[in-house]
Amino acid sequence: MTISESDPRLDRELYQLAEVDDRDDSVRCPLCGRRLDREAFRTPKVPPEVLSDGSLDLVARAYVCARHRVDVVAFEPASIAPDTFVGVDAVVDDQEARIAVPEPLAEREGLA
Ligand SMILES: [Zn+2]
Repeated sequence: MTISESDPRLDRELYQLAEVDDRDDSVRCPLCGRRLDREAFRTPKVPPEVLSDGSLDLVARAYVCARHRVDVVAFEPASIAPDTFVGVDAVVDDQEARIAVPEPLAEREGLA
């Protein structure tokens, strides 16, 4: 897949790692601290620049905070994801993390 310069998504999303409260596993936007609804998770496509192997075609659990100039896509750490998700190494906003990829997809890509 090639991303053209006119792709309207280019400046509309900012990829971050969700902050997790150790006490109750609640999830917050790392930029504004807003509590994000864990029932409202999404599985956006993971941009190749955050993966150690950028050729992988993956989606991962994430929450979207729409309070910002661009949508903040906060990936959920695999440590709090359900068992049906597999941790995959990524670098999100200069932080090493394991993001939560659906197990069948991870298997298909040879990661699980
Ligand atoms: Zn926010």
